[in-house]
Amino acid sequence: MSSILLSKNFPTCVCGAKDYDLVLDFKKGEESYQILKCRQCDLFRTWPVPLKQEPDFYQKQDDYLKREDQLALRTSFARATLLRLKKHKQSGRLLDVGCNLGIFVKEAGRFGFDAHGIDPCHKAIERGKKIFHLNECLKTGDLTTINFPEVSFDVVTLIHCLEHISNLNSVLEKVYFILKKDGIILVELPNFNSFWRKLLGRNWYGFAFKQHYWQFDPTSLKKLLENHHFTTLLVDTRHNMYHRLSFSVAGLIKLIISFLSFIFQRGDNLVIIAKK
Ligand SMILES: [Zn+2]
Repeated sequence: MSSILLSKNFPTCVCGAKDYDLVLDFKKGEESYQILKCRQCDLFRTWPVPLKQEPDFYQKQDDYLKREDQLALRTSFARATLLRLKKHKQSGRLLDVGCNLGIFVKEAGRFGFDAHGIDPCHKAIERGKKIFHLNECLKTGDLTTINFPEVSFDVVTLIHCLEHISNLNSVLEKVYFILKKDGIILVELPNFNSFWRKLLGRNWYGFAFKQHYWQFDPTSLKKLLENHHFTTLLVDTRHNMYHRLSFSVAGLIKLIISFLSFIFQRGDNLVIIAKK
């Protein structure tokens, strides 16, 4: 059973409330982490709040090297996302926020979009430009530092990005501002409501306590976007790219869990597509 927590130390939620329920409590060595649920908007947050204040936080990240090693896997995931997106928008100007190397940007170009990407990590952007020849399409920065004109994009994608952003309201307001009428927002992130999360406990990939400010389930993500005047078109889940299936006992167990996740919509990768 969750308990109600009222602390003057807790930051205000994006909805303006400050009352949380304690949902999970983990101890990891000397460190302890909690997941709190906002009583008003159902959004989950990590406590303590991840510290990313250093100005060069993103420049120290070397996640892009790992992504380059996983190119084939990540490309297949980008394609699956694009197939979903194409059912709602066939072409147009697309911005991928938090694009890292630009794997999704490259694939979106192949799928017929005029695709662009931004990421705060300069090293990832420079590497992406080099390996994918996307010089004109990739930029270092984020939605608060790059001034895109109003109604200038048909699609904005935030793939495993929103959970890393502390100020959700200002970013979603900016997405709304730069989208054209009937423009599409696609958000993909870890699903807090997944079977995998419950099975793996604190070892679940989606926690990343030092990086993720928020956790989302279909209800809270839909509510957040609707509070920002978007109309939901699709809510879906799938298994994340690390659950690779193989001919082994472990592979069979993964296959069964992935199948049940598919049937009950409890995959650990949550996708939502909404319209301006
Ligand atoms: Zn809230």
